Amino acid sequence: MPIRCEIVSQDRLVFEGEADIVIVPGSLGEMGIMPGHAPLLSTLELGVIRVKSGELEDVFTVTGGFIEVQPDIVTIMADAAENVEDIDVKRAEEAMERASQLLKKDLSVDPDTYLRIEAALKRSTLRLKIAAQYRKRGQRSRPPGMGTSE
Ligand code: ATP
Repeated sequence: MPIRCEIVSQDRLVFEGEADIVIVPGSLGEMGIMPGHAPLLSTLELGVIRVKSGELEDVFTVTGGFIEVQPDIVTIMADAAENVEDIDVKRAEEAMERASQLLKKDLSVDPDTYLRIEAALKRSTLRLKIAAQYRKRGQRSRPPGMGTSE
């Protein structure tokens, strides 16, 4: 019996489908959730979610959020998440460039602004790294734009 997996972000349903295992970047390190897992609520870090079902693997970048596990369903509430095949590389490059320029230009920004720019830099860097890593690997499990497996 697989486990059901739903990934929702603040603005959309990113994925829903069945999985043999869901691997997430938990706040205490990488966690693998399989069917029958004990109930759990945890925060998520910036990183990668992998949803494996048989030979298929869907890979998502996530910028943080929460995971709730019940024995038959994993629900991920992400700040932002995108299937690696849906990452807009140009947009991430522009975001990275914008953040880098801001940090270079004004090192005297207040701490909150600095942290906000640094977080934007981390998000864009992650998207670029994971897009390059997984697309090069050529392990596309589903065509672009097919965030859901229904
Ligand atoms: P940008 O400055 O380009 O908006 P951001 O890091 O500020 O990037 P987020 O606030 O993390 O963006 O995400 C807002 C929405 O845009 C989310 O739905 C996220 O999945 C999507 N998104 C952000 N960057 C990309 C990207 N490079 N490719 C695809 N979707 C993206």
